[in-house]
Formats: sequence, C-alpha cells, structure tokens
Amino acid sequence: TKWVYSFGDGKAEGGSKDKNLLGGKGANLAEMSNLGIPVPAGFTISTEVCTYYYENKETYPSDLKDQVTAAMAGVEKIMSAKFGATDGPLLLVSVRSGARASMPGMMDTVLNLGLNDVTVQNLVKLTGNERFAYDSYRRFIQMYSDVVLGVGKHEFEILIDHYKEKVNKVYDVDMTADDWKALIEQYKAEVQKETGKQFPQDPQEQLYGAIGAVFGSWMNKRAITYRKLNSIPDHWGTAVNVQAMVFGNMGDDSATGVCFSRNPSTGENLFYGEYLVNAQGEDVVAGIRTPQPLSLAEKTAIGSDLPAMEETLPSLYHELVSFRDRLETHYHDMQDMEFTIQKGKLWMLQTRNGKRTAAAALRIAVEMCEEGVIDKAEAVKRVDPAQLDQLLHPMIDPKATKDPLGKGLPASPGAASGQIVFSAEDAEAWAKAGKKVILTRIETSPEDIGGMHVAQGILTTRGGMTSHAAVVARGMGTPCVAGAGELRIDYAAKTITAGNRVLKEGDVITIDGSNGQVLNGEVPKIQPELTGDFGKLMGWVDEIRKLRVRANAETPLDASTARNFGCEGIGLCRTEHMFFDPQRIIHVREMIVATTLEERRAALEKLLPYQRDDFIKLFTIMAGLPVTIRLLDPPLHEFLPHTDADFAEVANAAGKTVADVKAKASQLHEANPMLGHRGCRLGITYPEIYEMQCRAIFQAVADVKMKGETVLPEVMIPLVAVKSEFDRLKKMVDAVAAETMEKTGAKFEYMVGTMIELPRAALIADKIAEGAQFFSFGTNDLTQTTFGLSRDDAGPFLVQYQELGVIPNDPFASLDQEGVGELMKIASERGRKTRPDIKLGICGEHGGDPASVHFCHLIGLNYVSCSPYRVPIARLAAAHAAL
Ligand code: ADP
Ligand code: MG
Ligand code: MG
Repeated sequence: TKWVYSFGDGKAEGGSKDKNLLGGKGANLAEMSNLGIPVPAGFTISTEVCTYYYENKETYPSDLKDQVTAAMAGVEKIMSAKFGATDGPLLLVSVRSGARASMPGMMDTVLNLGLNDVTVQNLVKLTGNERFAYDSYRRFIQMYSDVVLGVGKHEFEILIDHYKEKVNKVYDVDMTADDWKALIEQYKAEVQKETGKQFPQDPQEQLYGAIGAVFGSWMNKRAITYRKLNSIPDHWGTAVNVQAMVFGNMGDDSATGVCFSRNPSTGENLFYGEYLVNAQGEDVVAGIRTPQPLSLAEKTAIGSDLPAMEETLPSLYHELVSFRDRLETHYHDMQDMEFTIQKGKLWMLQTRNGKRTAAAALRIAVEMCEEGVIDKAEAVKRVDPAQLDQLLHPMIDPKATKDPLGKGLPASPGAASGQIVFSAEDAEAWAKAGKKVILTRIETSPEDIGGMHVAQGILTTRGGMTSHAAVVARGMGTPCVAGAGELRIDYAAKTITAGNRVLKEGDVITIDGSNGQVLNGEVPKIQPELTGDFGKLMGWVDEIRKLRVRANAETPLDASTARNFGCEGIGLCRTEHMFFDPQRIIHVREMIVATTLEERRAALEKLLPYQRDDFIKLFTIMAGLPVTIRLLDPPLHEFLPHTDADFAEVANAAGKTVADVKAKASQLHEANPMLGHRGCRLGITYPEIYEMQCRAIFQAVADVKMKGETVLPEVMIPLVAVKSEFDRLKKMVDAVAAETMEKTGAKFEYMVGTMIELPRAALIADKIAEGAQFFSFGTNDLTQTTFGLSRDDAGPFLVQYQELGVIPNDPFASLDQEGVGELMKIASERGRKTRPDIKLGICGEHGGDPASVHFCHLIGLNYVSCSPYRVPIARLAAAHAAL
C-alpha cells in the first residue's frame, strides 16, 4: 500500500481532490506545488495511516518506514540539504497535522525538527547567525517537549521569565545567542527532570516522536471536543505533513504572515492580512507582537500606524498578490493563506478556503456570483444556514449614547452585552446560573473553548484578527473584539482598567464586534437591514427551494417580523397565548371556575371580541397568505391564579368564594399534564370553548374579507388520537362557519385539519385524512410521545446521554429522523393515500433546524413553520435541501 505522498519542486503526488486521503493541508500543499507556486518540499503521511494506527493498537504499517525514508530522500534532493547533517547543508523539517476539515488550534505543529546539540552548531556555521540558530533550537525544544513529551509550555515560560528577570531583559529580541544557549541547558534539564530521559538527540527519533504525537493528538480532549461541536466523525483521521523548514526569523529580510484573499470579516474584495518581520511560524497567530498590515488600503482601513508590507517589501508584496489572485481563481473561493519569507524569497505554506463571518460569506457569495466566478446555486450553497443567524443579530443602535472604554479590532461582528468574567470556567459557571457574560481575556487558547461557547461576546486585549480568539469567535458567530490594547486586565484582582476607570468582575459592558468598540454598560441594539446582498441571495434561495416556509406567530409584532423575513403564511397560531393578556386572563379564569354552562358561556362571550380582534389583525398582516390557527391546547389549570390576590380577584369576578376557586384549582390539578386533559379532549368535553374560538375566527374572516382582503384560514385541531375526536370537532367547526356565513352574509373558504402529534394519529392517518384537509406535524409533542420523554424533565439526563453517545443529539433540537421521522413518513404516506392533495407541514421547533428542514424536504412536506427569526434560516436550508 502507498502510505506516503510527496510534493515540491512544481509537482506532487495528489492534489486538492485528495482531501480525504491527504487531509486538507496536505491536499492543498500538493495542489499549490502542482500550480507551480513555491512550496517547501515535503511529504504527507496519509489519513489511512491514522486509521491503521488506531485499528492496530497504535502501531504503524510495516512498510511505512521505508516509504518515509524514500520520501525524505526526495525532499533532501529537492532542497539540496540533508536531514540530520552535522556538516554541509542541513535540512530541518516541520511536522504538521492536517485533518480533512480544518481544526484551528486543535492539532499541534512542531517546527525546526532535526536540531540537536551538534546540528545546531552546523546551523551556526551555515548561516553565520548564532543567535538565530540557538533561538531556533530552543523553540524546537519548547514545541517538541510540549507536543510530543507532554512537558507543559508553562514550565518553559517560567524558565524564560526567570531568566529574563535575572539578566534584566524584557523582550525576546533582547536575548542573545548566549542567553538562548543558557536557557537551552535549563530546558534540557527540565525535560530530564520531568520525563526521566534526555531530550532526544537523534533526528530520526525526533521525527517519529512527532509523527506519533500528531496521530496521538487526533484523540486528545481538545480535538475530540472540537469534532463533537462541529460534527466531524472520529474515524476520519488526520494526515501528517513533513515539510522542509523555511525561516522567517533570519533577519529583517525575513518575515512570516497570514492573509486572506478577501476580508473574512466583511467580505470586501480587498486583500487582507498581517505579518511580522523576523519572526517564525505561529508568532503571528499567537498574538505575541502586534502584526503589521499587508496593503496600504488595509492600513488606512484599520487606522494602523505600522508600515504596510506594500511599503516596506513592495516586490514581495506584489508577488504575494499574484499568488492570491491565482489561488482564488483556481479554487473559486476566498482563500486563507500562510506564507514565510526567507531572506527575500517568498514561500507559501498553506492555503485553504477561508473561514468567514456570515456577513462575509454572504457578500463573497453574492459578489463572486456577480463576478461570474460561481453560479447562483453555488452562491446559495456557500452560505451556511446555521451561520445566517449571525446576520439576524442585533447591532448597536446608532442613536444610542455610548460611553467608550476602549477600542480593539473588529474580530467577529455583532453587538453583545454582558457581565465581565475573566476565565473560561467562570464563564461556564455564570452562564449555567443564567447570566449573560462577556469572556474577557488577555488572549484565549484552545482550553477556553467551553467558556467561549457560552459567552455572549469575547474581549481580548492582545492579538490580531487571526488570533485564536478572533478565529474561534468568527466560527461560532459570537461577537468578538480582539487586541483592545488600551485596556489592562488584572486576572488576580479580576478587574479591567480603562484609563482611570476600573471595572470589576460582574460589571456590564457592551462590545461591538463590527467596529471593535468596547462600551460601558448595556447599550441599546437594533435589528439589521435585510435588503442589499441579503435580499439578493434570498431571492436566489426562493428560486431554488421547493419547500414553503411559514412562521409560528400569534402577536401582530411576530407576524409582521415574520413577513419581513419572507414567511409564506402562519403555520401555527397558538390561541392560548392570546389568553394571557392581563385584561383577558380574568375572563379565562372566570370561564374555568364556572360551575354551569351558562356561567361559562357568559365568560366566553367576554373573551370573544378580544380573540376576534386578534384574528382580524393577523389576517390583515397575512393578507393573501394561509394562517393556521390551533384551537386551545393546554390544560385549563395552566391559566389558574397563583397568588392569594389573584384568587380573590377571580372569586370576586366570578361571584364565588375564594374557597370555591381554590377547590376548583385543586380539582383541576393533574399528575401528568402533558398527557392529561388538553387539546381536542378539552374541545370535546367543553365544546363551548372551541365554539367561541371558531366564532371569533370566522367573524374575523368575514370582517377582513369584506374589506377586500384575501383570507385563507386553516382551523387546526390539536392532539387528536382517535378519528371520531376529529370528526366530531370538524362538524362543530363547519356548523359555526355556516352559521357565521349566514349571519354576516359573507362567503369564505376555510380548511379544517389536525396536528399529528401522537403516534396513534400517525398510524391511523389514512382514516383521519378522510375528514382532515391538512396535517401539521407537532414534532415537539410527537417527540415527547414517541420517546415517552417529557421535555421539561429530560434536560439533565439528555445532556449525559449525548456525552455518553447514547443518542447523537438532542431530539428536541434536531428531529429524530429514525423514529419520529419514520412516524412522519408513515403519516404522510397514509394521509396522501386517502387524500392525494392533503397539505402537509411541520410546526415544531424543528421547523427552524437546518437538518430537520432537509428531512422535511426529503419526505415531501409542503411547508415548514418556525419562529419568525428563523424564517430566513429555514428558507436557506430548504434551498440547500433542494440543491
Ligand atoms: P495550523 O494548522 O495550526 O495552522 P500549521 O501546520 O499551519 O498549523 O503550522 C503553523 C505555522 O507554522 C504555519 O503557519 C507556519 O507559519 C509555520 N510552519 C509550518 N511549517 C513550516 C515550514 N515548513 N517552514 C516554515 N514555517 C512553517
Ligand atoms: Mg496549530
Ligand atoms: Mg496553518
């Protein structure tokens, strides 16, 4: 078997199509090499070796070693240098992980591998630069010890700090060759102490140690967590890239940097990036020094006073721009690239499709489509429905008064307010207690992922646009301000100092990830514009999708929000929400405590005009679009009073004693309300409630119709299990409709249908469809009743279930396609057999979840209905499903 694939010198064994085998990084290194872009030569050990490794008790295939040796010889030939050479040209390598999907910060890279006490002297001879050589060696010991030997970075940092203190130096640049030499001895002693062994001197041993560490890191906790959060399967494995080192730290004609072919934050078609002169590898990403901008345009845009690469290294800058153009044209997508300049020669070290904010994804997709680089379908595919959420996030109200504390880089857009906390653990604890927090750190690292996830926003005082905090926040869609250098954080005291002001843990701040501002207190926010690029893309989305999208809404505000977001009707209007209004609840309660039919009718008469007015408003907003109204669903005791004052008020209004009302309340108590006296069961036992609701609906229909609008009402009967429940209630609805038409003289169309939310209903759907004109899958209840699981009680163990891998995800968030989905399929098929044109929809929370929307498309539903803010997400998800 072929396990090892070489690249370099304008050719490669493989290319970008081989991501599964070579990992993303390896495949793109091969592709760049094939394109003739200068890439240091190297080879990729395939993901199949990782799979083999874990399937065979962490051992390698027997023929791997020979293939590695042969590939290394090839690299030596191209680079005219020898790995481990104690004399003559010396080849050093980096060992880089690379999974199929990029996993930022999760896997570890070792640089400068091949250095030891002897080769370092050769490096001094070859470069004539003693400081450089020993700096490289100490970096290698640091990285290798951390990644491979498990001797924490922290120990080395302490050694450096103590050393600097002792010799009275502050910055790394102040350190001389002798300083590094002295530290190297301390490092080696530390390794000896921690591991009981000498730091490995044999380059081959170093090489295999690093390769093993990369494969090993596939199963480290950070990587596993990241994969879980991003749904990356464990069996994909990682590849290992071994590549000739080039050095960005050989002096002022050397540099290292990161760049994007377009702005990853805004999507603007402007070359964008940062670099550091005389620096190596991850110095830029680690936020150790403030990096310099690449172009003059960018320098102006961010208001940097550091010189741009375009000014200081113009010809290299133009070469870099030409690579950027070629790579973007070649990949038809925005590229995220890494480069290093060694003594005036530009090398590309990585390219990949860049991560971007939703705003950037949208702008890039629309502009690339308009530039003719991609077509509409591709543009639609480029925007992730889950990510779209970010665009629907609030922004700071421009009219709000602001009290600025400082400014950083606009690292991830959107505005967020919250209480400041200073550690990821605190963020998690506070969030658990229901608090909104801003995670405030000098800089973040992969260990902080959990806290970053629960924070409303992330603020750092060090690091650039490509720092860990910025990259991760953009990926999560969390607002982030990075590198706010004028703020000073004191972890011990838990304070931020801004000028002469000191903020304590728990104080509220607002960050604006769109412009980098950090503001004191909670600042009012507004909703974003939905025109421009957004409108254009959503237009293409609507051309593509088959599934219609409706909203769950009952208030005029929700309804008009949903209409602005492009909904095509209301899929669920929960009438009981209209009962809770303070003016009405008293009549609802009077109705509940009524002892005779007359009393109950009298109370319902008072409610009717309120309901009718609500429906008039909804029908008017939704003119021309269908509106599904669900008749009363929850058990009556949900409306009962709680406080003594409430009880007294109800007793008074209903002409009863408080004792009577309390007796009624305890009589209505249920052991298991989810399965109790609710839904159509109420409609059957108290028909006058549903009659009143239908009267209100149809009077509103007549009213709006007579004003010349089109009204398409759909009356929905909840919680049907038995055909006769539906038939009885349908008769009632029809009677009220006929009566209303007669009384008002209006003629109108309407539909009567049911929710499918009990397994029994799904199974007898063919029979129910004899009377029902539509089904709406109430997947919240259907999930509860299929699993026999109460949503309100499942929280604690569902989390554990997911952690243990008993179930892949929360069935209340993403539809359980295997079980609940199967019932939906059965009901759809059986319903259609009886009534081929039956309308089918879904109105549970799942209607706004992209994976569930996809499923609904597959089983041929007519529409999904979701909360107003998720309407655009569902539209986009429906288009993705149709592509
Ligand atoms: P990550 O996946 O975390 O980005 P990389 O493998 O890309 O890790 O390595 C991180 C950085 O190390 C790169 O951005 C680059 O600057 C540096 N690096 C890696 N390999 C080499 C090399 N062969 N020569 C010079 N620098 C390298
Ligand atoms: Mg890394
Ligand atoms: Mg990289």
